[in-house]
Amino acid sequence: MKRRPENYVTLEFLSRSSNEGFARLAAAAFAAQLDPTLDELGDIKTAVSEAVTNAIVHAYPNQLGKIVMENQTLELVIRDWGCGMEDVEQARQPLFTTGGEERSGMGFTIMESFMNQLAVKSAPGKGTTVTMRKRIASRVPAKR
Ligand code: ATP
Ligand code: MG
Repeated sequence: MKRRPENYVTLEFLSRSSNEGFARLAAAAFAAQLDPTLDELGDIKTAVSEAVTNAIVHAYPNQLGKIVMENQTLELVIRDWGCGMEDVEQARQPLFTTGGEERSGMGFTIMESFMNQLAVKSAPGKGTTVTMRKRIASRVPAKR
């Protein structure tokens, strides 16, 4: 998923739950430059919310840690340096969760269905990188 971005904004924040809303709105503000529909914007916000919440609750369960969100023109990357995952394929299965009763195990499934591409890289004890792509349909300006 490497291509030279036309633009980027990188945001680094602490894994406090209050920063989830901030990251979601920042991603939406960045994506707004591409003139998305409200539906497309909603999809991006939902996917970012899932990825950032995962970094907050799963990557750093017992301490606060660093999360970085890189917004590029067509690509969104959410990175943490937390506990990582043993088996990414298993983690991506619908309903798989290590979060107990509180979680439904649908985060990755939601990211996959709301975005066009999802890649997850993870190493136990090292951290996780979630890369997502969303196509924004170019819209023909209305004729007057
Ligand atoms: P939900 O998102 O529905 O509340 P969930 O977070 O458990 O539940 P997913 O988002 O699909 O479901 O994640 C599945 C599992 O993958 C998690 O339960 C957790 O074990 C693991 N996981 C996801 N993201 C990370 C991460 N950034 N670091 C470590 N483990 C993660
Ligand atoms: Mg989740």
